[in-house]
Amino acid sequence: MCGIVGYIGNREACPILIGGLRRLEYRGYDSAGIALLNHEGNLNVYKEIGKVANLEAHLADKDASGVIGIAHTRWATHGVPSVRNAHPHLSQSGRLALVHNGIIENYAPIKQHLSEQGYTFQSDTDTEVLVQLIEFCQQRDNLPLHEAVRRALNEVIGAYAIAVVDRQEPDMLVVARQSSPLVIGVGEDNSEFFVASDATPIIEYTNNMVYLNDGEVTCLRIGQEMQIHTLQNEHVDAQVQFVDMSIGSIEKGGFDHFMIKEIYEQPQSMRECMRGRLLASRHEVVLSAVNLHRAKFLQAKRIIIVSCGTSWHAGLIGKQLIESWCRIPVTVEYASEFRYSDAVVGPDDVVIAVSQSGETADTLAALQLARERGAFLMGIVNAVGSSIARTTDTGIYTHVGPEIGVASTKAFTGQVLVFAMFALALGREKGVIDTQTYEHVIDELSRIPDKMETVLRQNDYIADLSKRFTYAHNFIYLGRGYNYPVALEGALKLKEISYIHAEGYPAAEMKHGPIALIDGEMPVVCIATHHQLYEKILSNIQEVKSRGGRVFAVVTEGDESVCKLADYCIQVPETLSPLAPLLAVVPLQLLAYHVAVQKGLNVDRPRNLAKSVTVE
Ligand code: GLU
Repeated sequence: MCGIVGYIGNREACPILIGGLRRLEYRGYDSAGIALLNHEGNLNVYKEIGKVANLEAHLADKDASGVIGIAHTRWATHGVPSVRNAHPHLSQSGRLALVHNGIIENYAPIKQHLSEQGYTFQSDTDTEVLVQLIEFCQQRDNLPLHEAVRRALNEVIGAYAIAVVDRQEPDMLVVARQSSPLVIGVGEDNSEFFVASDATPIIEYTNNMVYLNDGEVTCLRIGQEMQIHTLQNEHVDAQVQFVDMSIGSIEKGGFDHFMIKEIYEQPQSMRECMRGRLLASRHEVVLSAVNLHRAKFLQAKRIIIVSCGTSWHAGLIGKQLIESWCRIPVTVEYASEFRYSDAVVGPDDVVIAVSQSGETADTLAALQLARERGAFLMGIVNAVGSSIARTTDTGIYTHVGPEIGVASTKAFTGQVLVFAMFALALGREKGVIDTQTYEHVIDELSRIPDKMETVLRQNDYIADLSKRFTYAHNFIYLGRGYNYPVALEGALKLKEISYIHAEGYPAAEMKHGPIALIDGEMPVVCIATHHQLYEKILSNIQEVKSRGGRVFAVVTEGDESVCKLADYCIQVPETLSPLAPLLAVVPLQLLAYHVAVQKGLNVDRPRNLAKSVTVE
């Protein structure tokens, strides 16, 4: 998880690194640290537990000079959050400093071996073992830093993105990656280089980026072309990409939190996602992924969606859309389970991986399994150039812009929208969806952004209502059909940021267990927009009310029946059932947000969570 940043150039590194850590803090905030190589050849390391702000305060009276540096914000996997375990870690002699994102799986035998060679360890981390191993290789064979890094990494099993500096080679910064993300920003004429876990810390300095591939080690030197080698020591040409991202898109822009900013961005992010794909005036959906791989998709006997968390919920909606409009059977798997299963998957299957960051470790591993068994791979990701985008045979970007808040909002609606467009395009190619439905859905999709704006106008009302729920320790969310995954997503949002236990259920399943929990204290959120199961969910609400539950319902504008029963009602504009999740989820995002704000919690950085789950 964690964020790493590095700099080598002619400017003072510290402000660049600290600014970068702030942008990456969504990736982990157990501790933060920085190592700076100063003009006198000293390697100074500063670390603090907790947020980047603590590190900044700690640095206030320190000599934090230097034009080469590395920095880290941690999401602990090995060893408790503490200064001792914070990165950067130093090698035994103190000449090397290293930051690491990921897990060194075979750290124990390496540590044992190094201990026998006289190495001692100051932390409980797997990372420290790696920096010691690099120094061991360096000293044993008298190697330059980049070569020692390459040799050491050949002995390592696991996931890593690393950046290393060497006091005795003060003209270089060495970076490498395997299964954890790493981007290099290239200054004009190679006058400086920026390194980060994603593009957001770099974009204010340059749009020219190189995305490292797995198993690549890179040596960065001022004024020289970067030197990329594989772990097997083959030279690789750097592919510089122009990354089109604005600074405004990664700042809060007047909102209190990224989460609420991103909730509000959804009408616009829906428009961005549809741009050039949903051609409303021509009543057409054009997706190059489907056009270019028409035969593969038409032959598909089955589609398997692999994903985690919120993306898994989007997958559950995707399943219903694809089954309805394409008549292809779909299963939705947790990537973390699928990767270790003996899945029956083969060349007749299309596997769709869904991930906001495109770096989710379990989803990448699930793709690997599917690839080995011959399936055709498609990605639905947000982060352009990410690992999943590069691993898959084809893909559809959600194009909703950078999502910084840890609780996913606009990425979810983007994923659902991509599934809708994909199912329409494929259903059309297969000749399964009838013209009237196809055109009707396209018309309706083009109205969704405006309708979302209508929903957002109820923000103040929802903020007010949220005050009535801060007492609760438990919530139940109920929905049916297309709204069942919305119930799961609403419950996930609430638990992620407000720490209130919440469960989502298909409404009719309630009577097989959860109904036992309902009493006058229990808020029950019912998603009861107009659709074919409306009457059924009405009965479910009646069952809740009969047991004293407090019902917060999301209904279609003009609804009377549910509103008579429910304690509180939020109205969303009428739309087609398959598109209802795009509107119904918005009040649930707002509810979760405001409950957490009322409770005084850190909405953008909830405890124990990080944005991009790049560890298993
Ligand atoms: N495994 C390392 C640790 O626990 C790195 C974790 C991270 O990616 O932040 O320190």
